[in-house]
Amino acid sequence: MNPKSTKDFPMAGWHFDNSYAQLPEVYFTRVQPGSVRLPKLVLFNSSLAENLGLPWKDMDLSEAAFLFSGNTIPEGADPMAQAYAGHQFGHFTVLGDGRAILLGEHLGPDGKRWDIQLKGSGRTSYSRRGDGRAALGPMLREYIISEAVYALGIPTTRSLAVASTGEPVLREEELPGSVLTRVAASHIRVGTFEYAAMQQSSEILRALADYTMHRHYPDLLGGANPYRSFLEAVIERQASLVAKWLLVGFIHGVMNTDNMAISGETIDYGPCAFLDVYDPATVFSSIDRNGRYAYANQPGIVHWNLARFAECLLPLLDSDEGRAIEVAKESLALFPSLFQQYRLAGMRAKLGLFTEEPGDLALVESLLHAMNRNRSDYTNTFRDLDPERVWTTDAAWHSEWVTRLRRQEKTIDDVRRLMRLNNPVVIPRNFKVEEALVAAVSAGNNDPLNRLLAALAKPFEDGAEKQGYQEPPPEGSEGYQTFCGT
Ligand code: AMP
Ligand code: MG
Repeated sequence: MNPKSTKDFPMAGWHFDNSYAQLPEVYFTRVQPGSVRLPKLVLFNSSLAENLGLPWKDMDLSEAAFLFSGNTIPEGADPMAQAYAGHQFGHFTVLGDGRAILLGEHLGPDGKRWDIQLKGSGRTSYSRRGDGRAALGPMLREYIISEAVYALGIPTTRSLAVASTGEPVLREEELPGSVLTRVAASHIRVGTFEYAAMQQSSEILRALADYTMHRHYPDLLGGANPYRSFLEAVIERQASLVAKWLLVGFIHGVMNTDNMAISGETIDYGPCAFLDVYDPATVFSSIDRNGRYAYANQPGIVHWNLARFAECLLPLLDSDEGRAIEVAKESLALFPSLFQQYRLAGMRAKLGLFTEEPGDLALVESLLHAMNRNRSDYTNTFRDLDPERVWTTDAAWHSEWVTRLRRQEKTIDDVRRLMRLNNPVVIPRNFKVEEALVAAVSAGNNDPLNRLLAALAKPFEDGAEKQGYQEPPPEGSEGYQTFCGT
């Protein structure tokens, strides 16, 4: 209904500079988002807009709805779908953006480069049998969880806006359609490298590797073996990322290699969810029948995905294949101890430990063991631990912890302060997320959604807005399941 126009300039302030389009053409296909019937802005992230240097205060709501649904294209955008491949539940597949369109890269006021992507804006040449569309519930869910993960201090893609389209999408039933505007350091995935390796051309592969290093690891360019350094830097960022997930009880749910970003950001919020009760075997995703992506399996899966990444880089690691394999193996062998270091450092902070002692890991494991045995709430247990209040679930553990705390020269207030900075008061609890989504999608009532977002925005601070978001789920909600956001 609306002619695409780059002359109408919906919301000024965009500063596009599209470097991905300079890569060899196999990496993308240009495509225009499809127009939608009745675009309406459902959510808009003004604080992110501020960071991006977009003058949102002057924003015209109907123009914004057109922009964030793909009906109008901002000046300087060069819409494309990115090609990639990936291992899905262990099986290799050729994929690509089937329902996402990259508008381009926006340069923020600080010079930082951001991918601006519309998710759910129509079919592309990679859509296969899919409709290229997204339902409102899953896009609002991605908005909530990605912003919560951001506020928890974990690298992640972010959500700038959700627009409804006024058109139904057909899933098991008809659902309201929507488009999410996703903002990311980039959308380059392990799967992008798998796609590159598939081309059987070291030139095409090298172009992607150099581009990615330039964008995310510029300090490594020009080193002795830059591709080895690149591999090891990605290994390190992923070890840090998955440790952060575990520390807050996050389960990604679909850690296929196409859902793992080389930037080290959390990406693709489909069936993800947070633990309530501490159980390392927790799986929420309905399609993860064998628990491949269970809570405690995540570090092992990251390691497995990194091995797929290393395989792609082999031709760049050494001209001799045998030697290249040795290099990859040596680099991959760094992962387990890197992960453990990040995890243990994070756990020390959660327990108020400023110093390092050899017994700390055992102290952590025995706490987790007791929590698992007693089906304790993960988030609330950490938040409620206090040196001066016995943890009645396991008083022996509590006294061991207090003895350990006494061996560092810190006051109880120091300990409490460190713990408060590392143990969130709120996480996006599944039943609260569902409640907000049902109200927004079925009743058009955004109040619960906005209240939830406010509670999640400063997760480490107490405050009135946290009221009602700290309680664990009611009895009987153990079998909670999530579904892929398609
Ligand atoms: P995901 O499980 O969301 O990471 O998606 C896996 C692949 O399926 C990606 O290549 C997506 O672009 C594609 N895909 C997911 N949903 C749709 C859809 N509704 N239409 C077309 N492609 C889709
Ligand atoms: Mg994906």
